[in-house]
Amino acid sequence: MKYITPEQAVANGDKRSLDELRRLAKAPQSMCSVCNADTAWRFADTGMCFTCTTGEHDDSDDFELRMPPLMKQQREKAAKAGGQ
Ligand SMILES: [Zn+2]
Repeated sequence: MKYITPEQAVANGDKRSLDELRRLAKAPQSMCSVCNADTAWRFADTGMCFTCTTGEHDDSDDFELRMPPLMKQQREKAAKAGGQ
């Protein structure tokens, strides 16, 4: 799995809006709603892991969203400050 930021996803031709992709990237990591053995694939926004979504096991050419480093730091800072 390749990790990309929402900005990179848009640059790659993703048709969803940057705001939508940012929302997905910021979503708390949850477990797959089908097998509950792997983390849900945020890029596809199905609530399922890569394997349950695609039926494939090789995710080396596929993308997962990640927070840009600065945003991640801000989120961790907010968490430490006792935010929501
Ligand atoms: Zn699964």
